[in-house]
Amino acid sequence: MNKLNDKEVKNFVRDIPDFPKKGIVFKDITPLLKHPVVFRHILDEMVNALKDLNIRYVVGIESRGFIFSPVLAYRLGAGFIPVRKKGKLPYQTEEISYQLEYGEATLEIHKDAIESGARVIVVDDLLATGGTALAAAELVEKLGGQVARIVFLVELLFLKGREKLSKYDIFSLIQF
Ligand code: AMP
Repeated sequence: MNKLNDKEVKNFVRDIPDFPKKGIVFKDITPLLKHPVVFRHILDEMVNALKDLNIRYVVGIESRGFIFSPVLAYRLGAGFIPVRKKGKLPYQTEEISYQLEYGEATLEIHKDAIESGARVIVVDDLLATGGTALAAAELVEKLGGQVARIVFLVELLFLKGREKLSKYDIFSLIQF
């Protein structure tokens, strides 16, 4: 297959209306993940966009950020660091709480995960309002890490998450 274009990749993202609750159109990326050529293509494109950043760690956000971040770490010659939902990490943690559409969520990272000054990228599957990625980036900074870029497979432009993340360098592969 020749190099895929944007539209071809976007065709593998499926809209699920009213999931997980009424009014939300969920972007289901599982058709894209299960297609070997498309999955490889999106990872290659991400690696191309990141390979010159000279980073030490890829910080992945639970849960769907974990699909891409270890592969990117492997390909970039970096280490992988998980940011997880509260109560999952076994060692001492730094934590941050942030507002969701309804209620609050808390993310954690191991206290000793990042050496001061280390350059990292933060990875998640999708940028919606930007609250989750902002919280993860702030956790990295609490430990003294330097956020070189925040990376997403999908960006929902109409939610303007980039504005919330305006102090960071943002990369998304496909936009809706
Ligand atoms: P936000 O903090 O609003 O940017 O939300 C981002 C997080 O929620 C990501 O981890 C996404 O996986 C998930 N998310 C939010 N909205 C959607 C959506 N419409 N489709 C799929 N995932 C979403």
